[in-house]
Amino acid sequence: TEDKPDQSDEKKADLASEPKPRGFGAPANLLVATLGDALREQWPRSKIVGLSLKDRSAIMPVGRKPDACYWFDKGEFVTSTYYRDRLHPWASEFNAAKSCDRWFGKKWEKLRTDLDYEKHSSADDSSGEGTGSKQGKTFPHPFGAAEKIGKEYYDALAASPFGNQLLLDFAFRAIEAEQLGKDDVPDLLTISFSSNDLVGHAWGPDSQEVLDITLRSDEIIRDLLNYLDAHVGKGRYVIAMSADHGVCPLPEHSKAAGKNADRQAPLGLLTAAEAHLRMKYAEPADAKTRWIEAANEAGIYLNQRMLTAHKLQPAEVAATLVAWLKEQPVIHDAFARDELLKAPLSENPLIRRVQKSLHAERSGDVYFVVKPYHLITSYKTGTTHGTPHSYDTHVPLVLFGPGVKAGKRGDAVTPQACAAILANALGVRPPATAEAPLPDKLFER
Ligand SMILES: [Zn+2]
Repeated sequence: TEDKPDQSDEKKADLASEPKPRGFGAPANLLVATLGDALREQWPRSKIVGLSLKDRSAIMPVGRKPDACYWFDKGEFVTSTYYRDRLHPWASEFNAAKSCDRWFGKKWEKLRTDLDYEKHSSADDSSGEGTGSKQGKTFPHPFGAAEKIGKEYYDALAASPFGNQLLLDFAFRAIEAEQLGKDDVPDLLTISFSSNDLVGHAWGPDSQEVLDITLRSDEIIRDLLNYLDAHVGKGRYVIAMSADHGVCPLPEHSKAAGKNADRQAPLGLLTAAEAHLRMKYAEPADAKTRWIEAANEAGIYLNQRMLTAHKLQPAEVAATLVAWLKEQPVIHDAFARDELLKAPLSENPLIRRVQKSLHAERSGDVYFVVKPYHLITSYKTGTTHGTPHSYDTHVPLVLFGPGVKAGKRGDAVTPQACAAILANALGVRPPATAEAPLPDKLFER
């Protein structure tokens, strides 16, 4: 269901006169109500704050009417003109103090000198590892190679555990200034600690860097809990902690462990796919025109003008491309978007995940799933996520707070269940389109 954003006159003026927010995130792109929107509707006086190093991760949990929504951009926490014209004074003060510059000239060293990192992860100098933002392959990691504080330094800071530390400091400032948890009206604070993702992308999940940021994340959570105990009060908050995805191990690491794994550039596959469509249908009239218009994580987009010009049905060309993709050694499975959207939800968990990821207007005409432990990427090092394979989908979900039944559970759950879980804890109805149910007998009450 498409739910248009609030278009009050004031907001319209903002959207028309202001440049687009920097980065990918814009609340206007949201199609459904978020947990924050549900809370705002049912408790207009609640305080809602969304924070992250990344725009999209700050915006998506809190939606359209948070009290504050901030992310990190070139040395400052910023917001969108969709929300407000000026930063909150407390955010401006935080930026002006330049506490984000305090790591300049220092190095990211290992947290624990008493721990055998190699035993618990892998060799520091492993094949396939990246270097972040000019941070090098091995410890200690400088914060970029630049002489002056600038983009390189800030990118390196974000791709280190200290990006999380900076965000935590900013969160403390937000909790205090916005008086979160101070009255009987429920409030919502979402924090997306983005550095774990950036470190994972650069050095891979089995790296000493990921081990180190994981150890340090434990300290971040400890400090957050202590702060909440002191400023909100023990037993006066519920926490849901999860990850939005896992990640593919470095193919080089998997190969060394004897797995069928590979890293391939997308160009070879796409060029061969284009050649196949040309052979089957027609050569384009000019050198610039292609059957495949674009390809990204959302699939392969066919050139609709070419289909029209050659009087071809999109379904037929999509089926041709799907059949060809299925023959390729790097491809696990391929699907035509429209076919899959028409079909009932599959019993096959992998296909079901693909079905639930597709969008009629936004996804590509053809979607493919790469073989497990394979990466199709233009990067020669590092890794990424986004497949339905278990290394990408298996993440923890940790809940803590009053009424949460203690114990360890093994039932399948999705991080999306956080919407129902936190709505329950906040005493509100979940957003209308939140489909992941509240896990059975999660709360004692
Ligand atoms: Zn990522």
